[in-house]
Amino acid sequence: MLPDPRPVRAFLDPKHIDFAARVAEFAAREIAPLPAPADDPAARVQAKEILTRLGSGGWLAPIGDQDWRSCCLVREALGAASPLADAVFALQALGTLPIMMGSTDDLAARWLTAALQGRAMGGFAMTEPEAGSDVAAMATTARRDGAFYVLDGVKTLISNAGIADYYAVYAVTDRSKGTKGITCFVVPADTPGCRFIRPLILSSPHPLGDMAFESCRIPAGQRLGAEGEGYRLGLATLDRLRPTVGAAACGMASRALSEALDHATARKQFGKPLADFQLVQEKLSRMATDLTAARLLVYRAAWEKDHGAERITLEAGMAKAFATEAAQRIIDDAVQILGGRGVLADHPVDRLYRSVRALRIYEGTTEIQHLVISGQLLKQHRGES
Ligand SMILES: Cc1cc2nc3c(=O)[nH]c(=O)nc-3n(C[C@H](O)[C@H](O)[C@H](O)COP(=O)(O)OP(=O)(O)OC[C@H]3O[C@@H](n4cnc5c(N)ncnc54)[C@H](O)[C@@H]3O)c2cc1C
Repeated sequence: MLPDPRPVRAFLDPKHIDFAARVAEFAAREIAPLPAPADDPAARVQAKEILTRLGSGGWLAPIGDQDWRSCCLVREALGAASPLADAVFALQALGTLPIMMGSTDDLAARWLTAALQGRAMGGFAMTEPEAGSDVAAMATTARRDGAFYVLDGVKTLISNAGIADYYAVYAVTDRSKGTKGITCFVVPADTPGCRFIRPLILSSPHPLGDMAFESCRIPAGQRLGAEGEGYRLGLATLDRLRPTVGAAACGMASRALSEALDHATARKQFGKPLADFQLVQEKLSRMATDLTAARLLVYRAAWEKDHGAERITLEAGMAKAFATEAAQRIIDDAVQILGGRGVLADHPVDRLYRSVRALRIYEGTTEIQHLVISGQLLKQHRGES
């Protein structure tokens, strides 16, 4: 059931092989047995419980170490065991990375240690009702007022909304400067004016919701980086984390492939196992080939970052777009091989089918990844980089 590091070992160090076995064992022992949450309130409670387990077990440490291959290994193992656990890990990375890259010592001392030990839950508040893929269209403002900033606006589709202890919030400080007028701030959830509006219910367990910032006054020291650096900080965060989204997709897909193999070898129709039929074999072959190709792209991108590449925009875009699309096809084929059992709500493959869909949308849709990839390609072709 658990992802095997051997096909991608060319991109791993010996320490990663050992780490992969340990995180897989943790995920099988402490995460996979957790019951599927019955509803959104139960998912919110379980997300907090998972964060505690990830933190106390030291599994959030690769985020602090910026060891991207280990982050991918964690997300593969969690994706296979519990997509909710994967989302908890992902948000901890999204919520802490802007602080690591842009914070003052005070902010780091207050939030980083707690976040990386699983004692404080992070959130990442960029998307707005009228600003999804087009981040620059954001309407939330941050107005300087002496030693403070005053934030006003609404954010939507925010993971951990309502349960996070703090949010990395993106807001416009100077509209005339376009993307160079966006700034990022750390907003503790208990700040007056920071309000959880409502939950948004996903088809798979994932705490999500809308947040409002209403005359929300925060000390200027809670700004991350300089004024106008928020967009760059956001993109740098996504550059580093997109390969890990691909890794989560690979974890979900390897679990689905494993379920499909179990079923195809056990289930008999027309007097023999499904696995003896060539049409089923062709599906299994495509699933395994796509999965291996996806994992190679994911670990190639993470390897580049771990080896000092300043930017991995192209590699990260390819890894996220290919792996999430491939995982969707693999999981769909697994459902088909399972037949009617594959669409029963409590079957792991049906849960994966519902969970993997969002990965093609969040942290930049597949279409946006293709714009990014072709943009880089054309730049290289024209000798502009
Ligand atoms: C489960 C989940 C969790 C999320 N968590 C967070 C979070 O924690 N924080 C956060 O800030 N956001 C979060 N998001 C929001 C996510 O980042 C956005 O949904 C995503 O960026 C797309 O924005 P949108 O939904 O407004 O779609 P839109 O931008 O409106 O896009 C709709 C469609 O149009 C396509 N499209 C848009 N522009 C172009 C173009 N130029 N060319 C071709 N096609 C285009 C898109 O690819 C997509 O298919 C989350 C979303 C989901 C589903």
